[in-house]
Amino acid sequence: MDKTTKTITLKCIDLNDYDRLLSLYSVDYGKITVVAKGIRRPKAKLKFLEQSACFADVELAESNGRYVLKTAQQIESFFSIRNDLQTFYCASTILETVNFEQEGQPNTQLFLLTLKALTQLSTQKADLVVLTKFMLSYLKIAGYQLDFSECNVCHATTEARKCYLDLQLGGVVCNECRTVNSLTVLPDVKTNLTLIGTMPFEKLKNLAFTEVQNVEGLKLLHSYFSHLLTKLHSLTQLLSL
Ligand SMILES: [Zn+2]
Repeated sequence: MDKTTKTITLKCIDLNDYDRLLSLYSVDYGKITVVAKGIRRPKAKLKFLEQSACFADVELAESNGRYVLKTAQQIESFFSIRNDLQTFYCASTILETVNFEQEGQPNTQLFLLTLKALTQLSTQKADLVVLTKFMLSYLKIAGYQLDFSECNVCHATTEARKCYLDLQLGGVVCNECRTVNSLTVLPDVKTNLTLIGTMPFEKLKNLAFTEVQNVEGLKLLHSYFSHLLTKLHSLTQLLSL
């Protein structure tokens, strides 16, 4: 049966001389793996779809849960995210995170979040802040929202200088409730993540954090995501630039 949907290209893998397997995040069917026949030929018309982050309308033939690409129309390439290495790794981290989704589980909220984050990366300079916002919003959608204002265990306010992150204890914890596995959240990192978490994407460019502060916030989220999902290779690359 034929299906049409809107997709964001997450990843592509060579299948044989002319074909590729595309990992696409679709608004209607969640993450899907699609066979793209002939897409590696030099003059293939649908070549644009194998570029990561490509946003497109696609038509698929489906049989027994297997998808084959019939045709596609590009809506937005987000080409400008490739003009800067740091921005490119920010976008790659977003796509790598979404690629951890289970196949066939649609989530409109996550689809729109991904689209919004890619749009912001391609149009504004605050790429580290946009990535941080994406990661905090992703945690919220996944049910791991971080609230830095109070301890997740005893509900004491975290006005004291330091608070901690602990996946086993479900998020932010205070000095009394932390364990040996808890990660320290320094005061300026706490401020950075709290503000980015509460501001809409469009206003992030007005925040005046230094690059060092933004990197520290991302390092903490990197450790937290490593506990939660797995190590994000693109984020490791980004943080080593
Ligand atoms: Zn506590």
